[in-house]
Amino acid sequence: MRSVETFRDLQSDATAWRRYLHQNPELDYRVHNTASFVTEKLASFGINHIEAGIAETGIVALIQGGGGDGPTIGLRADMDALPILETSNKPWSSKTPGMMHACGHDGHTAMLLGAAKYLAETRNFKGSVALIFQPAEEDGRGAQRMVQEGIMDRFGISRVFGMHNTPGMEVGKFGICHGPVLAALDEFDLVVKGRGGHAARPHETVDPFVIAAQIILGLQTLVSRNTDPLDSLVISVTKLNAGMAYNIIPGQAEISGTVRSLLPRLRDFAERQIAALAQGIAHGFGGDIEFKYRRLEPVTFNHAEETNLAINAARNLVGPASVNDKMRPRISSEDFAYMLEAKPGAIIYFGNGPTAALHNPAYDFNDEALPYGIGYWVSLVETVLAP
Ligand SMILES: [Zn+2]
Ligand SMILES: [Zn+2]
Repeated sequence: MRSVETFRDLQSDATAWRRYLHQNPELDYRVHNTASFVTEKLASFGINHIEAGIAETGIVALIQGGGGDGPTIGLRADMDALPILETSNKPWSSKTPGMMHACGHDGHTAMLLGAAKYLAETRNFKGSVALIFQPAEEDGRGAQRMVQEGIMDRFGISRVFGMHNTPGMEVGKFGICHGPVLAALDEFDLVVKGRGGHAARPHETVDPFVIAAQIILGLQTLVSRNTDPLDSLVISVTKLNAGMAYNIIPGQAEISGTVRSLLPRLRDFAERQIAALAQGIAHGFGGDIEFKYRRLEPVTFNHAEETNLAINAARNLVGPASVNDKMRPRISSEDFAYMLEAKPGAIIYFGNGPTAALHNPAYDFNDEALPYGIGYWVSLVETVLAP
């Protein structure tokens, strides 16, 4: 058992870093200033193996333990902000109107820096730690690109771990579960092809509005009538575009939406059945469809052994009563999923206290959570890589 008090010393440094990052948010791959800040700090901790410019602005830095040979584990933080106008009114509010850290990635970056400082000083572990700072999490592609650019093999990373804050969860608490923890995210576009004509002579047209309306209602039944009530699947229509005038029935209508699922078979089912149902309805009315389905992010899947390691690391820090190891999976998504597809690992959630929700303009990362995040990383390294 180690106490979070060990990491209180780092809290004032980490708070200053976090607030600096909060004031200077950057989007997607364009996190140049953030990446320079991270690189400078890592170098100042005496870490000399730092590789920048991976996936444009991503960074991987290696800290070698003092306990001899062993495997390398990856710890990942995300660095990007969101295109939101901040309303938190904090003294450290964003200096760039229309851009803010509304997902706490400023806090995640500061926590991994805090852990880096501690681990570089103490090196009380065997093997090595690879610190992964990624761009473009919100864009959903940064983690995938870092994997595609070969970080797992290049740095010999055998296991990878992630962490995200949770508004509404008490500071000092952790939550995690085995298996699927976040949903897969997909998008679809449906073009309903009818035949346009005069609104006064509908019998000479194939009205795409009528077909689109039937399709939208039909899609509601895929979850309610065709999937197991105990499984999780969400199909939402989020865009509908058609028509230009009062007296014209247009030739086509466009429907778009998203699908979120926790199991691969439900994802396959949604892709197959949205197309089949829409086509069946359109044909029944004398029309047709064009269908495009894009798989954006996979299910975030926590591997069994690494989830147990993460649970133990959190318990060692805050005690068993503060770690919920049966957290309910969430239907949002996270690009860390790509790292978990590449290597076994686990993502854990920690409390951000009673703050505004993620992606809300009033959100702010809670600096009281910093020592817990830093402590978790250190505890994890010293658990997994015990000399
Ligand atoms: Zn986010
Ligand atoms: Zn986030």
